[in-house]
Amino acid sequence: MLAPMMESPLLISGLMEFGVVNHPEAEIVSRKVEDNSIHRITQLGAAKRTRQLANALLNWGVKPGDRIATLAWNTWRHYEVYYATAGIGSICHTINPRLFPEQLEYIFNHAEDRMLFIDLNLLPLVEALRDKLPHLQAIVVMCDKEYMPDSKIDGLICYEEFIAPHSESFEWPQFDESTPCSLCYTSGTTGNPKGVMYTHRSTVLHAMGSLHAQALDIKADSVILPVVPMFHVNAWGIPYAVTITGAKLVFPGAAMDGASLWELIKSEEPTLLAGVPTVWLGLLNHLDSIGETMHSVQTVVVGGSAAPLSMIKAFDEKHDAFLLHAWGMTEMSPIGTVNAPTKAMLAMPKEERYQQQRKQGRPVYGVDMKIIDDDGNELPRDGKAYGRLMVRGPWIVNSYYKSDKLATENGWFDTGDVATIDSHNTMQIVDRSKDVIKSGGEWISSIDLENVAVGHPAVAEACVIGIPHEKWQERPLLLVVLKDGASASEADILD
Ligand code: AMP
Repeated sequence: MLAPMMESPLLISGLMEFGVVNHPEAEIVSRKVEDNSIHRITQLGAAKRTRQLANALLNWGVKPGDRIATLAWNTWRHYEVYYATAGIGSICHTINPRLFPEQLEYIFNHAEDRMLFIDLNLLPLVEALRDKLPHLQAIVVMCDKEYMPDSKIDGLICYEEFIAPHSESFEWPQFDESTPCSLCYTSGTTGNPKGVMYTHRSTVLHAMGSLHAQALDIKADSVILPVVPMFHVNAWGIPYAVTITGAKLVFPGAAMDGASLWELIKSEEPTLLAGVPTVWLGLLNHLDSIGETMHSVQTVVVGGSAAPLSMIKAFDEKHDAFLLHAWGMTEMSPIGTVNAPTKAMLAMPKEERYQQQRKQGRPVYGVDMKIIDDDGNELPRDGKAYGRLMVRGPWIVNSYYKSDKLATENGWFDTGDVATIDSHNTMQIVDRSKDVIKSGGEWISSIDLENVAVGHPAVAEACVIGIPHEKWQERPLLLVVLKDGASASEADILD
């Protein structure tokens, strides 16, 4: 029997229009990529421009299902592209500009992106590749007309000119909530990066799941500074979550160094920061060097790599800010667990609480997890046994883009992380079974490095391992065995 309740599809356009009706004045502040000045707009203002962009995209010829790439920092224009592309039924494909040219070329061509929205300072990446991207038909530079660059690429379109002639009204189409809305590639152990295609449903559910007090605790009066890039799993979904609550968004643009972040924190007074440990190390070091203290910040969400104990302490003791440790992955939209403070945790003596905060936390509602041994048997939740961490839930990948193989085993996704789970269901990562190194939030394949190293004529065997690093969390260490009688210096091998 089915019950007669309404079946309204969960669509990205619905998030934006909800924001417009409920908190039109909520602010989106961005540091502009073009000149580092500050730009301000409201949710209503951004929604009007998003509707203009939707009209412009359709007028240009974008069709449902088309992939529209972005190579861009966190700004209001990137936010508009998120909503407009998804709203018309096309797919916002965010690309990480820190990848190697070969990886960028592969990703553009694998996704068959028809159009690209790019920030001014990233244009050289595409100028070098333009001839190798046969699917790409148009490139829109995200700036005002006065900043349009001279480029080797003909026919660049200026974002502001692209949207200007179009109406601020738009009737968002209604379609199945399982329609794809965005695409993000992640680098694996070996081989080419793999695409994770999110749906409207998975994205809206993830936004709802990330808001509440046991997750990121995003409220109407929150002011959020997501330093985590919009090309890293949609800035952990924050640009979607804010339209639900009306929180103020502060986008750092391309300037993520400690001094620039501190300037933005002083002027915009964020209550919640979100990013990888390397970014916060830069900020903490800068604050130490100038002897300043943050006052507005209550919570610093740290994910992407394990939060170091020294960072948990520094935020608490020097800045009275709570480090909220979170774990997830591209395949999980990304949020899996959050170590939200419980009554018991807050009652602990400080040193004990810091140890507790090092754990990655408990699953947010929607995510199921378990640990298994090598034979697939579930291990006890006793905080001691460790095994492969398996997850499932409505915002977790089932198979990779364009792959006909399931990415799951019996309905569970293997995260490649090795973890313990205690009797309160708090998870702690203890190791990684995937052969990759995470440096400053970016993946480095140990196998790729080993393959290059063994290509050297003097090398018999090579092995790359991750070693702890104060700034980057992990760096690759290359160990080589030379062939009998061969000689090579460290510099030769590194060359
Ligand atoms: P990505 O898909 O780039 O977001 O990377 C996801 C992977 O980053 C996870 O599978 C973990 O290996 C690692 N990771 C993410 N968050 C944490 C964390 N809080 N602590 C330790 N490792 C993490």
